[in-house]
Amino acid sequence: MKPNLLYLAAGCGLAGLLVFAMPSGPLGAYNISAKGRVHERLAYLSQLCREAGQQAGCDIPADRKTLQQVKWKQGKYWRAVRWPDDPTGQINPLGIGKVAVNVGLGGCGNYRNDKGSFSGLLCNSHLGKLQFMHAMRSREAETPAETRALIAAWAGFAFDVASGRQDPQENFCTAIRARGDPLAAALAPEGFPFCEGSETGARPHPAWRVSTLFAMRCRSPISSGTCNELTGDGAIAAARDNARGALLHLIEDSYSRSHTARAESKPTGPYQPVIDCLPVREFYFYEDNKKRHSAADSMPEFAASCRAGGAVLDPVTAGAQMLALIERSDDAAQREAVALVMDRVLGGG
Ligand SMILES: [Zn+2]
Repeated sequence: MKPNLLYLAAGCGLAGLLVFAMPSGPLGAYNISAKGRVHERLAYLSQLCREAGQQAGCDIPADRKTLQQVKWKQGKYWRAVRWPDDPTGQINPLGIGKVAVNVGLGGCGNYRNDKGSFSGLLCNSHLGKLQFMHAMRSREAETPAETRALIAAWAGFAFDVASGRQDPQENFCTAIRARGDPLAAALAPEGFPFCEGSETGARPHPAWRVSTLFAMRCRSPISSGTCNELTGDGAIAAARDNARGALLHLIEDSYSRSHTARAESKPTGPYQPVIDCLPVREFYFYEDNKKRHSAADSMPEFAASCRAGGAVLDPVTAGAQMLALIERSDDAAQREAVALVMDRVLGGG
């Protein structure tokens, strides 16, 4: 658990501590908000369904009020399911001002991957090359096939980490690059500065391991230029937990009308908080819908399509099936996990 100092060159600095309300932005959909807790509730329902052995078809909440009443803090995964939204542990009373400025008010704009070597996990996850973690387009010109390929690669990698198939201590770039593009181009592109450690220069740092991605903490309320990572058993546990949470998050986000168009909502809304269990017809790009993105950010209800027994599962059932596959963890389970995301969560294609 001894912190390991990391110099991230993550940008995302902030002069002074400011206290903001949550911005309307990608922190909106199914996200970390005081009133929402949608990810947390859906993850708990998936957990309960899996524990009851009913993952062939989970019960889903009858209405918004029923979902609202789910006691999410009794669940095992409420912290981990937040990981893609808060990959470096900044959303807390001290860090929220920095997050609000960088994600909500444009601070990340100077640090996108296409403008520099690495812009930090928070900025990239919400606004940059890693938006596939939220079932969104990562570039404006990205085709649906490219988005799907990124999601499939990410699901396979996250599954391997969550299930223990991937050694969390392996060098990050070695592990990611062995999987080829598109994942390598997104997560460990040429010029990524942390493939190897450096003991000299202005910013000495260790090489990233796989666990670094999942176990980094940028606690300073002022800047994310220097961060820590968990080490040892703490890092291994965090990697497996947060990778599991990332899979649940990916599944859940894909049903947000702020992230994808299912049903008749193509191409630009409506953004009501309704979960449609129909194939994804379009992945949205945050820059295109940022003004309306948070409109789907309240307790969702499940459309009739989620009770129709179609090819696309509801997110609670899909999450429960993913948890069961992670427990199985063999080669077939890995293939089934990717197929679950591509065929039974996204559908179509
Ligand atoms: Zn998300």
